[in-house]
Amino acid sequence: MSRENAFQGLRCTECHAIYPKGQILQKCSKCNGPLDTIINPEILSEISREDLYRTPSMWKYQAFLPVGEKDKIVSAGEGDTPLRKLSSFQGNVWVKDETKNPTGTFKDRGASLAVTALSALGVKDIVLSSEGNAGCSFALYSHIADMGCQVFLPRQANPAKVELSRKLGASVTLVDGTMADAGRRVEPVSKTEGSYNASTFVTPYRHDGKGTMALEICQQLQWRAPDFVVYPVGGGVGLVGMWKMFSILEKIGWVKKRPRFVAVQPAGCAPVVKAYNSKRDDLEEWKNPETIAFGLRIPKPLAGKWILRCLRESDGIALTVTDEEIHKSMGQVLKDEGLLLEPSSAAAIAALPHLYGEKMIDRSAEVVLMATGSGLKTVEQF
Ligand SMILES: [Zn+2]
Repeated sequence: MSRENAFQGLRCTECHAIYPKGQILQKCSKCNGPLDTIINPEILSEISREDLYRTPSMWKYQAFLPVGEKDKIVSAGEGDTPLRKLSSFQGNVWVKDETKNPTGTFKDRGASLAVTALSALGVKDIVLSSEGNAGCSFALYSHIADMGCQVFLPRQANPAKVELSRKLGASVTLVDGTMADAGRRVEPVSKTEGSYNASTFVTPYRHDGKGTMALEICQQLQWRAPDFVVYPVGGGVGLVGMWKMFSILEKIGWVKKRPRFVAVQPAGCAPVVKAYNSKRDDLEEWKNPETIAFGLRIPKPLAGKWILRCLRESDGIALTVTDEEIHKSMGQVLKDEGLLLEPSSAAAIAALPHLYGEKMIDRSAEVVLMATGSGLKTVEQF
C-alpha cells in the first residue's frame, strides 16, 4: 500500500491564506507574502528511517519534499555532501561541505527541487535574479529539463558565474546596481506569457530543497541535531528551509531537540543582524551595501519577517564579520583544511573566533558551519 503524500498544499507565511497544490504559484495573491509548502509531519511519522530512498543525493528525502510520487526528478546528483570535522579549530566543529555540489554551491539543492516541481506543473521558461551562483544552478537544471532560463545579475558578479551561466545555455543580462535592482528588472519579464519568476522567495519551491541540508546533518550525526548551526545569511533560503526540516524531525521524533542558529552577515550589508539585534519584526533595506561576499550583498531579503521569526524561535544569535576577517578566514581554511571557499562561505568561518572569544558559545558545544559555496568561481577574489 503506498503512503499518502506529505505535501498537502501551500500557505502564505504572512496572511496564512491556503492554496491547493497543482497550481502554478509564486507569491500570495492576497497579500504578496512569500508562500511556504505544507508538509504534514504526521504522514512522515509513518515512515521509518530505513525506508528512506537509497538514492545517493538529496532525493533520498523525497518524501519530505513538495513533489508528487510520479514527478520526474531533475537531478545532477546534488546533496549528500560531506560533514567534515575541522581539526584546526579548538572546539567541537564540523563543516557541511556544500562545495561538493554539481555547480559548487548549495544553490543546486533549491534549483533541483524548483525545476522538478515547476517542470511537473508545465512551466517552460524560468527567469530569475541572482548574484551569480543561483544563476549557474538554474542554468544547469533548466538545461537538463529543456526549459528556457533567463538570468539577471548585478554587473559586479564574478566573471566565472556569468560565463558558466551562459555556457549552460541561459540568457544572461547584467544590471547596474544591486540584487534589488536586478530583481526589479525581472518583474516585467516574468509577467510575460508562460514565464515564471524563480527568484528567491518569489517561488515557494526552493527553500525545502535547501532544507535537506538539515536532514543530512542529523543523519550524519546519527540522528542528533547539533547545538549550533552557523549560517551566512544572504537571501535566507537555507535558514528557513533548514529550520522547517529541523522542526519536522523533532516533531516526528527522529531528533530530540532543534539547534540554535547563528546568522552571520558582512558588516557592509547586515539588514538581518541589525533587525534581529534591535528586536524588530521586519527588515529595512540596507543602504549602499558593500562587501566582498557578493552572495550576502542582499540589501532586503524578501522573506525578512520569516527569517527573523525562525531566528527568534531557535533562540538564535546574529553577528557581523568584516571583509578583512572573511578574507583571512578564506586563506586560513584553505591552508589548514584544504577547503577552497568563496567569500560568502568563509563568512561563517570568520564568525567562529567571535563566537568563542566573546563567549557567545561554549567550546564544548557541537557546532556545524555551513560552507555554502566553492571558491572555484571566485578565484579573482583570493
Ligand atoms: Zn498572504
